Amino acid sequence: MRSAQALLLAPTIDALTRDPNPEWDGAPDLLSAGRPASGDDGGQSHLSATLHEMTIPSLTGGCLCGGVRFELSEPASAAGYCHCTRCQRRTGGGSSAQARIDGRIFRLVRGEDLVKAWRHPDGGFEKCFCRECGAQLFARNPDDPTQMSIRMGAFDDDPGVRPSWRAFVAYAAPWEPIPDDGLERYEEAKARF
Ligand SMILES: [Zn+2]
Ligand SMILES: [Zn+2]
Repeated sequence: MRSAQALLLAPTIDALTRDPNPEWDGAPDLLSAGRPASGDDGGQSHLSATLHEMTIPSLTGGCLCGGVRFELSEPASAAGYCHCTRCQRRTGGGSSAQARIDGRIFRLVRGEDLVKAWRHPDGGFEKCFCRECGAQLFARNPDDPTQMSIRMGAFDDDPGVRPSWRAFVAYAAPWEPIPDDGLERYEEAKARF
């Protein structure tokens, strides 16, 4: 029966992350509400192990070479795609999927010396990547480090949150049409608050 309870937690997390205007007021009660009350899944079967992985958001991540590792103290609760030309350049792809977080829940576990922060001469968030392997890790506002975005692909496993918007769609790559997926769309930036 414990497994069935775990399954029911998924929509709870999903509903939280669909908030169109997530506010970063810390809301520890809201965030922890989606977690199982106990880490004990009560069995060693493959099924229960799978359910366990599905319902606990990944809080850790790192770069391609493994030199940089980070962790979050709470699950990310908002995410979106960015189609801006800077993201196209740095990823080599059509867009970047990223989770917006409050920088206070982020901690570099190792590899601080490997993290290179690059800021466009015209301003904007610093783009932080591993200087050894080139993996894109996160971005942050150099004037307000509480404003951060973690690249979704940098998480070790499923961070739980799902992208709910697409920003800078006016600049989308002509070779990759924006899918008709019902996500909120913004011609330019989506405000953080
Ligand atoms: Zn690396
Ligand atoms: Zn972008």
